[in-house]
Amino acid sequence: MREYDLVIIGAGPGGYETALEAAGTYGMKTALIEKEALGGTCLNHGCIPTKTLLHSADLYRQMKECDRFGLHAEGVSFDMEKIQDRKTEVLDTLRSGIAMLMKQKKVDVIEGTGRILDPHTVEVSAPDGAAKTLDTEYILIATGSKAAMPPIPGADLPGVVTSDELLEKRDLPGHLLIIGGGVIGMEFASVYSAFGVKVTVLEALPRIISNMDKELSQSLKMLMKKRGVTITTGARVEEIHEAPGKEGWLECIYTEKDKPQTVQADCILICTGRRPNTEGLFGPDFTAETERGRILTDPDGRTSVPGIYAIGDVTGGMMLAHAATAMGRNALAAMKQIPAPVRQDVIPSCIYTDPEIASVGITIEQAGNLGIDADSHKIVMSANGKTVLSAQERGFIKVVYEKETRKILGAQMMCARASDMISEFAEAIVHGLTMEQMFSVVRPHPTFCEAITEACR
Ligand code: NAD
Repeated sequence: MREYDLVIIGAGPGGYETALEAAGTYGMKTALIEKEALGGTCLNHGCIPTKTLLHSADLYRQMKECDRFGLHAEGVSFDMEKIQDRKTEVLDTLRSGIAMLMKQKKVDVIEGTGRILDPHTVEVSAPDGAAKTLDTEYILIATGSKAAMPPIPGADLPGVVTSDELLEKRDLPGHLLIIGGGVIGMEFASVYSAFGVKVTVLEALPRIISNMDKELSQSLKMLMKKRGVTITTGARVEEIHEAPGKEGWLECIYTEKDKPQTVQADCILICTGRRPNTEGLFGPDFTAETERGRILTDPDGRTSVPGIYAIGDVTGGMMLAHAATAMGRNALAAMKQIPAPVRQDVIPSCIYTDPEIASVGITIEQAGNLGIDADSHKIVMSANGKTVLSAQERGFIKVVYEKETRKILGAQMMCARASDMISEFAEAIVHGLTMEQMFSVVRPHPTFCEAITEACR
C-alpha cells in the first residue's frame, strides 16, 4: 500500500482540476505539489489577470463612447493603481476558492518544488530547504510553461518585459512596443490601446494570429488600426538597444521587406511563444522521454515511463488552460483503465479582444489541405438585433462543413460573446451534428447566439 495513489506536480488548471477529479470522483488519495501560488500561470500570470485588465479597459472605452447611447459621463478617467488592486482581489478570491475546494476533497496541498526520482517517488523541497519524499502509485506532471525569450540582442535590457512582468506594472508606458502578434500580443495591444497608450506590434510572419483563419487576422488587424495600434507584419527584429539621447527609452531595429527600420519605445513586451517547464523535474539518473523540452505523451497523457503521466503546456501542443484540464480528465481515465471521457481533438481557442475572437475545429483552408471536400457559410453580424442595439463592432460567424454529409467541421467567429458561443460549435463537432441539426434548434430572440441559426441556414 503506497502513501498516495496520485502525486501531481503543478497546481495550474491542469493540476488542480485533475486533483479535484481524482480525489472527488475516483476517491484517490492525492497530493498536489506547487512551488508558487495555487492556480498556475492561468490564474496568477495569464488568463485571469489579463481578462481582469481587459474588463476594465473595455468598460473605460464604453464609458468614453457612451454619448451614442444617450448617456453623458464627464471627466471619465482611470486609476491604474486601483485597477491593479482590483486584479489582486480577484486573484486572491479565486486562489482561496481553489484552496477551499482542495480542503473539501481532502487533497494534500504541499508547498515546494517537486522532483521525480523514480516512477513511484517524488521528492519535495520546501521553500525553507527541507526535503521529503512521497511514495505514490501514479505521478502526473502538470508543470506548465514559461515565456520563451528569443535570442534578440538586448532582450535582457531593463524595460524589456514578458507578459508576467507587464501584468504587474502599476504605471503606463508612453509607447508600448509588442514583439509577437500572437494571442498574448493582441490581447495586450487591446488593453493598452484602450487606456490611451501608443502601441506598436511587430510580427515576424505575414499576418497576426497566424494560426487562426485568415479573415480573423485581417479583421483584427483592421480593428486594431482603427483603434490607433500600428501593426507591422513580416518584421524581423534584429536588435534592441538604449535609445540614443533618450533616457529610459529603448530602440528596436527590425527589417521590413529587407529595409532596416527603427522604432523607439519605453516598454517592450516580448511575447513570441512559451516553452515547457521541465528544468529540474527529474532526478539525477532518471527521466521520461522529451523532445525539444516538451514531455512526449500519447493522447491520454502517458509518458514513456509507465505510471508517469503529463498534461497541459509541459507536453507542448495547444497551450490552453481548458486543454490541460481536458487532458487531465483523460489521463485519470487511463490510470483507471476506463474510456477517455473527453474529446481532446476538439479544443476551442479564444482571443479576448473586443470584440472577441473564437475558433474551433478546422478552417476552410485546412479542410482543403486535408483533402476534405468542404464548404463554408459566413454571415455578418450587422443584421443581428442584439449586435445593432448594443452598437457592437462589425463581426461575423463562419461555419465550415463537409459538403456531402453537411457535418460541421469547424467555426470561426469575431463578435460579441464569441468565447461563449463557440461552445455550440464544439458540441456540434463532438456529436457529429449537421448544418440542418444546428438550424433545427430554436435560439431565443434577441440574442447574439440566434446568429448561429442564421450561420447554419
Ligand atoms: P503565439 O505562438 O500565439 O504567438 C507568438 C507570435 O510571435 C507568433 O505570431 C510568431 O510568429 C511571433 N514571433 C516569434 N518570434 C518573433 C520575432 N522574433 N519577432 C516578431 N515576431 C515573432 O504565442 P504567445 O502569444 O506568446 O502565447 C503563448 C501561448 O499562450 C500560446 O499557446 C497561446 O495560445 C497561449 N495563450 C492563450 C490565450 C488565450 O487563449 N486567450 C491568451 C494568452 C496566451
